[in-house]
Amino acid sequence: MRILITGGAGFLGSHLCQRLIGMGHEVVCVDNLMTGSMDNVAHLLGHARFAFVKYNVCDYLHVAGPLDAVMHFASPASPQDYLEMPIATLKVGALGTHKALGLAKAKTARFLLASTSEVYGDPLVSPQKEDYWGNVNPISPRGVYDEAKRFAEAMTMAYHRYHGVDTRIVRIFNTYGPSMRPHDGRVVSNFIVQALAGTPLTVYGNGSQTRSFCYVDDLVEGITRLLFVASDRTLEQRTDRQSFLSRTETSQSETVHDPINIGNPHELTVLEIAQKVQALVGTGAPLEFKPLPVDDPKVRRPDITRARKFLDWEPKVNLEDGLTRTIEYFRKRCI
Ligand code: UDP
Repeated sequence: MRILITGGAGFLGSHLCQRLIGMGHEVVCVDNLMTGSMDNVAHLLGHARFAFVKYNVCDYLHVAGPLDAVMHFASPASPQDYLEMPIATLKVGALGTHKALGLAKAKTARFLLASTSEVYGDPLVSPQKEDYWGNVNPISPRGVYDEAKRFAEAMTMAYHRYHGVDTRIVRIFNTYGPSMRPHDGRVVSNFIVQALAGTPLTVYGNGSQTRSFCYVDDLVEGITRLLFVASDRTLEQRTDRQSFLSRTETSQSETVHDPINIGNPHELTVLEIAQKVQALVGTGAPLEFKPLPVDDPKVRRPDITRARKFLDWEPKVNLEDGLTRTIEYFRKRCI
């Protein structure tokens, strides 16, 4: 297949480029390098099945030749980045998604949207299932990312329903691993870089808020399965009376076009993750408590029942192994 990935030089995009090239596909990587980096794809440059194009996907996208799939991964994704770049974040979620969908439609290509657990906002139910509509404050500073991705999901479903584009939506939960930027502000990279430098690990709030961390290789496996799963795959209609009554008259059985959570359900408090990093790095770096960012979600944990059933997928890498590999990456890069 010939596959175009927007945001292909970013953390997740570059892992996907690598995986798809390894599977024998041809990859066109598009990135404006706003938060992505050529370092992430440098090893692929010169490969016969890899092409890099520096471009802002909010502008009209023209690509010569056929495409079998378009994967839209371009967006600032760390809270620090999207708070610093609010307009660019809204534009890539809205205009960028529109352009990427238009390209998929023109090429009769499959389309996969990188959505996010942030569509659930500060969730009032946990774990989060895909049929939870979320609790998002549209005018909060975080709203720029959450609403951009919610719009992107709506636009994707509209292209599916109105234009018949074969679409997929993955809701990505917190992910970590090699190729994260050392200073992108996310919790795992921050804690590791701080611990390696022997400086205090900055815990926001009292650290009781929870997150569930997925190692990047597991996430990439889930996403590639979603990309390649057959379009006509549906889940059997639920038969028990309770779930039957809770569905609306218009709802149908679940299909591959419905959003699907990919993440690791192993939930920890931020304090626990800080303590794990402290123990694994072993430099004796202390903790330092800092103010909690506005509207920071209090809990987050994916329900991955749908991914298990549709994709026969679940994460395999445990936190300790994943953190050890990530610490090794940063140790080489930062010291
Ligand atoms: N966090 C923290 N210290 C940091 C960075 C983040 O305590 O140096 C907290 C943050 O407030 C949030 C959690 O860690 O509760 C995850 O933050 P991250 O920025 O990684 O992603 P989010 O899940 O909020 O999108």
